[in-house]
Amino acid sequence: MKFNSSCIEEFKDIWVFCEQRHGQMMNTNYELISEGRKLADERGSKLIGVILGHNIGHLGKDLGGYGADKVIICDDENLKEYTTDAYAKVFCDVVMDKKPEVVLIGASNIGRDLAPRCAARLHTGLTADCTHLDIDMNNYVDFIETSSTLDLSKTKFKMEDTNLKMTRPAFGGHLMATIICPRFRPCMSTVRPGVMKKGEFSEEKAKACEVETYPVSLCEDDLQTKVLEVVKEAKQIVDLIGAEVIVSVGRGISKDIEKGIELAKELADAFGGGVVGGSRAVVDSGWLSADHQVGQTGKTVHPKVYVALGISGAIQHKAGMQDSELIIAINKDEKAPIFDCADFGISGDLFKIVPMMIENIKEAKNNK
Ligand SMILES: Cc1cc2nc3c(=O)[nH]c(=O)nc-3n(C[C@H](O)[C@H](O)[C@H](O)COP(=O)(O)OP(=O)(O)OC[C@H]3O[C@@H](n4cnc5c(N)ncnc54)[C@H](O)[C@@H]3O)c2cc1C
Repeated sequence: MKFNSSCIEEFKDIWVFCEQRHGQMMNTNYELISEGRKLADERGSKLIGVILGHNIGHLGKDLGGYGADKVIICDDENLKEYTTDAYAKVFCDVVMDKKPEVVLIGASNIGRDLAPRCAARLHTGLTADCTHLDIDMNNYVDFIETSSTLDLSKTKFKMEDTNLKMTRPAFGGHLMATIICPRFRPCMSTVRPGVMKKGEFSEEKAKACEVETYPVSLCEDDLQTKVLEVVKEAKQIVDLIGAEVIVSVGRGISKDIEKGIELAKELADAFGGGVVGGSRAVVDSGWLSADHQVGQTGKTVHPKVYVALGISGAIQHKAGMQDSELIIAINKDEKAPIFDCADFGISGDLFKIVPMMIENIKEAKNNK
C-alpha cells in the first residue's frame, strides 16, 4: 500500500478511534466524537468514527447522533478481544488506505497501548493525554488569552495555521504545553477521558450517519498473542467519571482514616447516589485504591457536586476537579488553596463538620 506520512496534502478528515468492550461503547467515545465535531467544523472536513471488534454493526449509528458523518466498522473474530497486534494492524491498514488528517484516541488503558504502536508504524507524531484541542487559530488564541498568564501583546500568531494544536499539562501540571505535528500526518492525539464535553444526542443525525464496513485482512503472522480467557476482577471499580456527586478525601482524614472514609460514604449517600474519591496522597498511602484518585494522574471529573474533605488543593488535584459544577471544600486551614476554586468553603475540622452536614441534608430531605 502506498503510504507516505510526509505527503501531508494527501490527508483529510478527522477520525476518532471508538473503543468498545464486549459490544458496549465506552462513554469517552461520545466526548471525543463531540470534540471531533468541533474540530471537523473548524477544518471544514468530515468527522469519521472507526470501530474495531466482532458483531459490532449495531454500534455505528449512535456515533452519528453525537456528530459523526460516517462510521467505519472493522468486524472480525480476531478483533473480539483487544490485542495490540490485531488492533494495530487493522487500524493502521485503514489509516494507510484512507489517510485521515487527525486521529483522536481516548487515553484509556487500551488507547494508551494502541496509539503509540500505531504512531510508530505510521511514522508520525503522537501527543499523549491531551486536555485541550484546537485547529482554528482564533479559537486557540482565545484559549491562550483566557487560560494562561502569558503576555501575548508581542506574540505574532500565524493565523492561517491549520495544524491540530494539542495542549496537555507538562512538568507535573505546572505548565501547559501546546504541541503540533507539522511535518507528518495523521496528527495523533490521545485525549483524557472526562475532559471533553459530550454534546447533545440527535436522533435525526444518527439516522443520517453513513456506515461503511471495511474488509479486515489478518493472517496468522499478524497475530503474536491470543486471548484465551478474560477474567474480570471481582472488585467493583468506582465510576468517578459518570458520577453526579463525588465526595473526595485527602490526607486530612489521617487522624482516623476509617472514620474519615465512612463519613465521606455517608455524605455521598446523603446527597443521593454519590461516590467516594480521593487525592493522590490518600491513594499513595493505600487508604483507597487507585481507581478513586482524582487529579492530573488520576481521573478528570466534572460532577454536579464535588466535596473536598481535608484536601489542600494542590495544582495536580485541582486539574482533575476544578470544572465541577459546584465545589464544596472543608479544610481546617483557612488559607488552603482548595478554597480558591470552591463555591462554598467551610474552615474547620471535617470530623465535626461532616456529621452536621449529613444530619442537615437528611433533615432537609425529610421536611421536603
Ligand atoms: C506529577 C505529579 C502528579 C500528581 N498527580 C496528582 C493527582 O492526580 N491527584 C492528586 O490529588 N495529587 C496529585 N499529585 C500530588 C499533589 O501535588 C499533592 O501532593 C496531593 O494532592 C496532596 O494531597 P492532599 O491534599 O490529600 O494532602 P495534603 O496536601 O497533605 O493536604 C491535607 C489537607 O488536609 C487539611 N486537614 C488536616 N486535618 C484536617 C481536618 N481534621 N479537617 C479538615 N482539614 C484537615 C490540611 O489543612 C491540608 O490542607 C501529583 C503530584 C505530582 C508531582
